[in-house]
Amino acid sequence: MLTHSMSQKTDLKNLSRILTCLHLGSGLKINFNKSKIYGIGVTNLELTSLASSIGCQPSHLPFTYLGLPIGANMSRFSNWSPLVERFLKRLKTFTVKGIRSFLVNTYPRLAVETTRWNNLVPIKVNISSWRIANKRIPTRINLDNQGIDLNSLRCPLCDDDLETKEHILVLCCVAKNT
Ligand SMILES: [Zn+2]
Repeated sequence: MLTHSMSQKTDLKNLSRILTCLHLGSGLKINFNKSKIYGIGVTNLELTSLASSIGCQPSHLPFTYLGLPIGANMSRFSNWSPLVERFLKRLKTFTVKGIRSFLVNTYPRLAVETTRWNNLVPIKVNISSWRIANKRIPTRINLDNQGIDLNSLRCPLCDDDLETKEHILVLCCVAKNT
């Protein structure tokens, strides 16, 4: 809780009553004995008096909340050091394998095969396989499904059937003969 020079004991009493109502309504109890009050522009004596009026402990800025210094001068590099160190520590443990396992664990519908490259074949084969499996090949059927207006959906090479991925990769007579 923060208080400033314009706060009065009645303001804090009213705040205390509001928090008590919150407790009665939600069941979330505010433990005033463990709560601290911070003063801005008030003397230590005033802060102690205000804190005792609602049963809080007086304290001083800056304080640390979730690892961040609150009330500190953030234009000083030294105050950012704890945060920078935490990020650097996390970056050291960052790996592609870790991200992949996080995604697979978080989203079970992602099959392991869709997030793993096969190292035994060239990368272009991996990419083509992924594009085929995920309907990312620009066949006429896929383009039509994306709303692109075409004159015909039939295979331009043989004109025997619709141009689907199965047709251009397996069924087309031109693909069979090459
Ligand atoms: Zn064809």
